[in-house]
Amino acid sequence: MRTPRRADLAELPSRDAILRRWEELEWWSCAYCDRPFGEKVVAEVDHIRPLAKGGRDEWVNFNPACRECNRGKGDLDVDDWISMSAGQREAEGDLSITEGH
Ligand SMILES: [Zn+2]
Repeated sequence: MRTPRRADLAELPSRDAILRRWEELEWWSCAYCDRPFGEKVVAEVDHIRPLAKGGRDEWVNFNPACRECNRGKGDLDVDDWISMSAGQREAEGDLSITEGH
């Protein structure tokens, strides 16, 4: 087991380095919609807590996200965004509530 050197922690990982690390770890799908990254699904680095809201550039604050989810989330906190998109799903669900048996 390796302990990260202090320098590793202090160093700001570049976007490419972050994506490469995730690829190595085979954590290569969107953290939100679960789609595997590939030609159609563009991998991006999402800040769990947006920089605009005081989030920091550090590993614990990064999530792999596809471009769609990242754009959709924008400057929202993950929790806010999830409850917002859950609300949207419910609203859409209401329209098709006659479906079933
Ligand atoms: Zn996604």
